[in-house]
Amino acid sequence: MKKLLPTSTAGSLPKPSWLAQPETLWSPWKLQNGELIEGKQDALSLALYDQLRAGIDIVSDGEQTRQHFVTTFIEHLSGVDFEKRETVRIRNRYDASVPTVVSAVERQKPVFVEDAKFLRQLTKQPIKWALPGPMTMIDTLYDNHYKSREKLAWEFAKILNQEAKELEAAGVDIIQFDEPAFNVFFDEVNDWGIAALERAIEGLKCETAVHICYGYGIKANTDWKKTLGSEWRQYEETFPKLQASNIDIISLECHNSHVPLELLELIRGKKVMVGAIDVATNTIETPEEVASTLRNALQFVDADKLYPSTNCGMAPLSRRVANGKLNALSAGADIIRRELATK
Ligand SMILES: [Zn+2]
Repeated sequence: MKKLLPTSTAGSLPKPSWLAQPETLWSPWKLQNGELIEGKQDALSLALYDQLRAGIDIVSDGEQTRQHFVTTFIEHLSGVDFEKRETVRIRNRYDASVPTVVSAVERQKPVFVEDAKFLRQLTKQPIKWALPGPMTMIDTLYDNHYKSREKLAWEFAKILNQEAKELEAAGVDIIQFDEPAFNVFFDEVNDWGIAALERAIEGLKCETAVHICYGYGIKANTDWKKTLGSEWRQYEETFPKLQASNIDIISLECHNSHVPLELLELIRGKKVMVGAIDVATNTIETPEEVASTLRNALQFVDADKLYPSTNCGMAPLSRRVANGKLNALSAGADIIRRELATK
């Protein structure tokens, strides 16, 4: 991007109420068959329009065609039995009934490639596409086949690489992998998590990003955050290896969080998507609040590598609040662009 401080979102945007129950994760679809396909495309167009109207530079599909950022991808693979469920602890935080890996996992056909082509023909803006990361995928499944988290992650990395290559061919400019699990399983991240991520991006020519956050503003996450103390230093555990990795962009939670921003010094040289919008509150940030977070981040991120963004996805928010936050993000980035221009 030639424009300084190009804005983007971490991923999801709220779905219209005619498509799915608003302000709910895993919300069931309200349409069926052909109407559902058309409805998802209409919602994608609307999500794009909302981003363009707010002046967001790097746009996405707002994840309008997915029920959930991990599950929907896995549903498209063979080897996972969604009828056979076991209760597991997700990210050491909450119990959930999850599907079981019963045989070798495989991607028989593309998952999001048609959706990406649809988005591509609607806009000339750079587009970013989010996929779940390998470690976050294995953490939402019960594995009765590989019986090794590392092996299963490696298989998913190979599958993600196939999908990513087709997304790149469809014209996606940035492919992002969502890895909230990187903030939890530090030993595994350093042992094989980052290696698996690098396997997922192998051979890609487009830019690649990893999104590591403290999650949606749902109760299990806000309760977990309360246990983390006054300084959140989780990023410190994984930044040194990420700094040395082939990933181009690191997308992080920064606004209203207890992450000490000086940790960003550990990834100096990487492009950083700085979360300047809190997705766990309905309060819409003022442009000056966004600008203040970006100004602080500029101490540790070079201006040409700073990408203002949101802390995480905005799917659980109302459309009114999400649109307000998109406007604030744009206006806040504009304040800093003007400041940099007069320096
Ligand atoms: Zn997130």
